[in-house]
Amino acid sequence: MAATERNERLTDELDPSIRLRCPICRAALSKQSTCWRCTSAAAHEFPEVSGVPVLLNPERSIFRFEDFRPHARTTFKEPALWALRLGRLLPSPSRDVSAPHCRSRLAGLLAERDRDRRRVLVVGCGDGTAGYGALTQVEHASWLETDVSLAGRARIVCDASDLPFEDGQFDLVICVAVLEHVLDPQRCVDEMHRVLSANGLIYATTPFMQQVHMGEYDFMRFTRSGHRWLFRAFDEIDSGMATGPASVLVWSVEYFLLSWTSSVAARRVIKGLTRLALGWMTWLDPWLARREAAQDGAGGFYFIGHRSPKTPLVARGMLNYYQGADALK
Ligand SMILES: [Zn+2]
Repeated sequence: MAATERNERLTDELDPSIRLRCPICRAALSKQSTCWRCTSAAAHEFPEVSGVPVLLNPERSIFRFEDFRPHARTTFKEPALWALRLGRLLPSPSRDVSAPHCRSRLAGLLAERDRDRRRVLVVGCGDGTAGYGALTQVEHASWLETDVSLAGRARIVCDASDLPFEDGQFDLVICVAVLEHVLDPQRCVDEMHRVLSANGLIYATTPFMQQVHMGEYDFMRFTRSGHRWLFRAFDEIDSGMATGPASVLVWSVEYFLLSWTSSVAARRVIKGLTRLALGWMTWLDPWLARREAAQDGAGGFYFIGHRSPKTPLVARGMLNYYQGADALK
């Protein structure tokens, strides 16, 4: 059954206790018969497509309401079932070596909070392929998944640069492999900071050495230090390598070979053969992730922090943050 092979939404109903706000003017939003409208004098209107509210600020977003009304493709499309099955048979070209550690650590931190303080916002849920591991086992946690695509399992379509929520009402924000796809990552991180409760948690992973993916929707990369500075309004709980140099090497071979052809069929064959021939190499990444010298060639980094900074991060302090090979000399 297709429905069970794909990743279904964690929650199908929109929690009525979530206080939605107009992404343009921050006034309250109310549901109309076929759309959502803000209560300000401007009465901004937002469509609902297939039961999913599309809450965008078209002045700042790269997306328009028209991108969603006909249920068109935006950042990604749902793969055909045969492609989904084939992808599962082939070795993955990348491995997030930090995912089990991060999700189990976050599950512990979330479970320590009061039962009514476990509200999770996912910014960029995609199709849920990556999963949330131990986090979904936390009792009394409530989830809201969002994205800028209707292809996945988003319950609300919204852009991270203008989150349509009242301040301080989430206890954990998850933002995995998203910030490379936004034009203004600092504004998006500031928005996540705004909607988090006092001492709320942030979990983000973002690529450093990774070739262009998702075509026209790819804009940014971060070193580990650059990633830390992006989250300077947060205290760090944990950070480190998410994707290792072996994944980078597999991607590099694949993209070197892809450089020779624009043929869709040939590119599919190259991707499949590269995965079959070199996918095993990504098993080296868990070992490399423990080595300081490997940090400089990592594929990406994770950051876990909480909202209330005890010691504000200052610019000069960033020189001591670097943890790569040159820090050993
Ligand atoms: Zn408004």
